[in-house]
Amino acid sequence: MASASTFLSHPNHHANDVVSSAICQFKSCSFASQSTLFCSKFASKSLSLHTAPTRPGRPEPACASDSEPISASHSHQTFDVLIIGAGIIGLTIARQFLIGSDLSVAVIDKSVPCSGATGAGQGYIWMTHKTPVSDLWDFGLRSQRLWEDLAESLSEQGLDPLQLLGWKKTGSLLVGRTPEESDMLKGRVKLLCEAGLRAEYLSAIDLLVKEPELMVDKDTGAAFLPDDCQLDARRAVEFLEKGNRHYSSKGRYAEFYNDRVISLLRSGGSGEVEAIKTSRNILHTKKAIVVAAGCWSGSLMCDLLRESEVVLDVPVKPRKGHLLVLENFNSFQLNHGLMEVGYVDHQTAIPLPNISTSGLLDHDGQTLSVSMTATMDTAGNIVLGSSRQFAGFCTELEESIISCIWDRAGEFFPKLREKSLSDFSKSREVRVGLRPYMPDGKPVIGPVPGLANVFLATGHEGGGLSMALGTAEMLADMVIGNPEKVNSAPFAVHGRC
Ligand SMILES: Cc1cc2nc3c(=O)[nH]c(=O)nc-3n(C[C@H](O)[C@H](O)[C@H](O)COP(=O)(O)OP(=O)(O)OC[C@H]3O[C@@H](n4cnc5c(N)ncnc54)[C@H](O)[C@@H]3O)c2cc1C
Repeated sequence: MASASTFLSHPNHHANDVVSSAICQFKSCSFASQSTLFCSKFASKSLSLHTAPTRPGRPEPACASDSEPISASHSHQTFDVLIIGAGIIGLTIARQFLIGSDLSVAVIDKSVPCSGATGAGQGYIWMTHKTPVSDLWDFGLRSQRLWEDLAESLSEQGLDPLQLLGWKKTGSLLVGRTPEESDMLKGRVKLLCEAGLRAEYLSAIDLLVKEPELMVDKDTGAAFLPDDCQLDARRAVEFLEKGNRHYSSKGRYAEFYNDRVISLLRSGGSGEVEAIKTSRNILHTKKAIVVAAGCWSGSLMCDLLRESEVVLDVPVKPRKGHLLVLENFNSFQLNHGLMEVGYVDHQTAIPLPNISTSGLLDHDGQTLSVSMTATMDTAGNIVLGSSRQFAGFCTELEESIISCIWDRAGEFFPKLREKSLSDFSKSREVRVGLRPYMPDGKPVIGPVPGLANVFLATGHEGGGLSMALGTAEMLADMVIGNPEKVNSAPFAVHGRC
């Protein structure tokens, strides 16, 4: 049953770190004073959590490096599920617990939603670049279906998915420009049709009918999936936050933003993680902790487990990406979402035979790849992407990369070449984000071996928006004990971290 105290929703989370009335009331709750406060306000069960034999009355920090004592400024609260990370993955997982169970949930973020990769996402909810019979296929299909169901249910309630999620069924075009790429696309279309999707190979002439501004010649062709969709990541996040906050008045949801997770607190007896320590709070869990901290998940787990007996190396790495958004773009209209064939290669980082490398170049000693992607968003902006590079955790905007994206887009849309990038200096936005990259190309979703109540949900690289609802369903089913809808084995932590 839900155990959170009364939480008030605050309309402006950016100005407020914590959406919780209990925090204000018990701001200076300490271990010394908590029994009185917990007895008067919280379920007595909260007190029984502090059972470490070595330091009676306190859970053990899993992170021995965390020598900072738990001070009087740390307030205490208890939830069934604690979710670390308020990106698209953390927020959709929170939503799944809220709508699919009676558990209480807290979401904790060192910053605010959209400050990670999510805020930079282009919004493809696509199957066109996924391969049937791969580990990701059923999972990707399930996730896309869940997004479609959500959009449909909004429409049925008289709400507008376009306004709320930026949801558009534009269809997708995966464009090839050489005979080899076109042959590969024909094979892909065949496979996609055999897998039950509506897919069509378009020759240059048919493609031009669909996208009149696209540069085509006799070798150009495209795979067209009319049912592929797109959303606006920022609108989707706003929608999710609003939906989740609906449960705060029921005492089942709270947000702790601008509050970094620092360490895990474990019971010496069971070894289970019983709480997490953040920069300002001690948050206790009765059921599960979910680490959905995007590209920071590896380093965070490393910090959290330092000097504990659990050995875990989550090989997730930040993969930097730039997107160029030209606001109120009116030079031409895009009717679909587009992506060049080289994107498939660019995303997996595994060279495919006979496919062009789409702008691989050396940049400051790093390998940078730029692959053309183009969408029109709900506000009439054209969104051009995208770059991929390993540059650590740096999110600095690199103007030279924006130029590469612009040049690459100009190769596909000659009308862009009639203008210069500087013409857009006052009407452009650049988004930079760190994709959570896993070397084997699959997200990690499941319990951490040796820590039964700690779960990981990360590593979605360039597909976290599209895979979010499938991830949320899979993770919540694991925690609650529901039968799984899609085989989760390929995404297990064990054997991969
Ligand atoms: C340029 C670009 C284009 C993309 N386009 C698409 C697309 O079209 N379709 C698609 O499906 N995907 C796309 N993606 C990928 C997608 O954006 C990511 O896969 C997804 O956003 C990952 O979500 P996340 O929640 O795992 O991570 P994030 O959004 O990075 O969220 C992680 C959160 O964890 C928090 N955190 C980290 N450490 C701590 C800590 N110690 N304590 C508390 N909180 C912490 C961070 O502050 C952050 O808010 C794109 C990505 C980029 C960069």
